[in-house]
Amino acid sequence: MTSQRLGMSPAISAALSTKTPLLWLNPERGHSDAGSILTPGFDSAERRLQRAVKLMHALFPEADFYDGRVESPLISVPDLQRSLDMPDAAGKLFIKADHLLPVVGSVKARGGFHEVLAHAEQLAIEAGLLVPSADLVALASPEGRALFASRTISVGSTGNLGLSIGTIAAALGFRAVVHMSHEAKAWKKQELRRRGVEVVEHQGDYASAVEAGRRAAEQDGSDYFIDDEDSTLLLDGYATAASYLAVQLAAVGRTPSADKPLFVYLPCGVGGAPGGIALGLSRLFGSTVHFFFAEPVSSPCMLLKMASGGLDDVSVYDYGLDNQTQADGLAVPQASSMVAARIRAVLSGVFTVTDEQLFSGLLRAWEAEALELEPSAAAGFAGPQWITSSDAGLRYMAASSIDLACADATHLLWTTGGSMVPTRDRHEFRERARQMESQL
Ligand SMILES: *Cc1c(COP(=O)(O)O)cnc(C)c1O
Repeated sequence: MTSQRLGMSPAISAALSTKTPLLWLNPERGHSDAGSILTPGFDSAERRLQRAVKLMHALFPEADFYDGRVESPLISVPDLQRSLDMPDAAGKLFIKADHLLPVVGSVKARGGFHEVLAHAEQLAIEAGLLVPSADLVALASPEGRALFASRTISVGSTGNLGLSIGTIAAALGFRAVVHMSHEAKAWKKQELRRRGVEVVEHQGDYASAVEAGRRAAEQDGSDYFIDDEDSTLLLDGYATAASYLAVQLAAVGRTPSADKPLFVYLPCGVGGAPGGIALGLSRLFGSTVHFFFAEPVSSPCMLLKMASGGLDDVSVYDYGLDNQTQADGLAVPQASSMVAARIRAVLSGVFTVTDEQLFSGLLRAWEAEALELEPSAAAGFAGPQWITSSDAGLRYMAASSIDLACADATHLLWTTGGSMVPTRDRHEFRERARQMESQL
C-alpha cells in the first residue's frame, strides 16, 4: 500500500513506517459534508442505564459504585501536570478516571454493560417478563435467570471488553463465551474463568479472535455475538459518559465554551470507546471540545483508517507494522469503519506513542498521583505536550483560534483501565518503567 493511496504527506508516512511518534491532524474536522453526527441511540442508552441502577446494585452488591452508579471521578492532577512539563499558563490538567469504573476497572464497562443490558431487556420483553421502559431490576429475578440460562452471549476481545461483557452476562445467568486474542493477559483470562465465563484462546490477533467468535455465533441461533468492530449499542453506551462528565466539569467551573476549550486525550483501539465518548461530548458542547486519540506506534489503525478516507480494508500490516505493543487494549490492526465514518467531522487528530512513553506515563501517574494504570491507559499522556509545543499542535491551535496561553483551557487525560491489575503485574509495570527510564 503506497502513501499516495493513503493520501497522507510523505513526512507522516515516513514517521509511521519508522515508528517515530507523530501528531496527525484531521483535515475533515468541522466539515459539514464529513457526515452528520448520527446519535439516535444516545438518549435511549442513558435512559436504559438509569433503569439499570438498582439492577447493578443487585448483581454486584460488593462493588464500589461511584455516586451510586457505574461512574468514575474527575480528578485534578497538579503534580502530574508538573511532572509532564505542562505549564499552568497552558491550562489545567485533569484525569477522567475510568480505570476506577466499578466491577471491571476499565472503560469497557460503559459500552459492554450497555449492550448486554439492551439484549437482556429485549429478551425479557419478548418473553413477557418485562414491559418496555420498566425498571430493569426485574432481570435479576429467578424467572430472568431461567430465561437467560438457555442463551449465550459471546465476544472477541484483547481482554477488557471480554472482562466487561463476560462479567455482566454471567452475573445475569447467561452462558458467556469470550474469544481472546494472543496478547490477552493471563490474569484477565483467570479472572474471567473465576467469574464463570468460558474463555476460548486463539493464537491469532484481535481481528482473528473477533472473526472466530462471529463465525461460532452464526452456527448457533441462541448465541448473541457482540461485535466490537460494528456495534452501535456499544457506541451508545460509551457516549453516555458525556452527560455525567458535563456535571463534573460544571462543578469545577469548567463547562466547555469558546473561552474555555476542552482538550480530551483518549487511548484508541478499534475506536468504539474513544469514538462514543467523542460523539457524546460533541453533541453537548460542539466544536468547543477537541479530541485527540492516542495509538501505539505499532498499531495506529484509526490514524490509517482516517487518513485513507475510510478505506475498509486498510490495516497496520499493510504499512509494514507488526501490531506488537505492551498496550494490550490497543493492539488492534484494523479500526472500526462504522466508528471512523461517524467521527470524521469531530476528530481533531491522532498521535502515536512508543511503549517507552506508555510506561513512562504509567510511572508518572503512580509517582505524582498514586494512580494505578495499565499501559494502554497511559497512552494519552503525551497529548498535552503535542498540542502545546509541537509544530502540528501550534498549527491546530492557530487554526482553531485558541490562544496558546489559555489558562482557562482544560486538558483531560482519559485513563481507561488498570484498577484490577494484580499487584504482581503492577510491580512489574513499574519496574519495567524504571529500567526504561534509566536506559534513556
Ligand atoms: C479497549 C480499550 C481502549 C480502547 O477502546 P476501543 O473501543 O478499542 O478503541 C483503551 N484503553 C483500554 C484500557 C482498553 O481496554
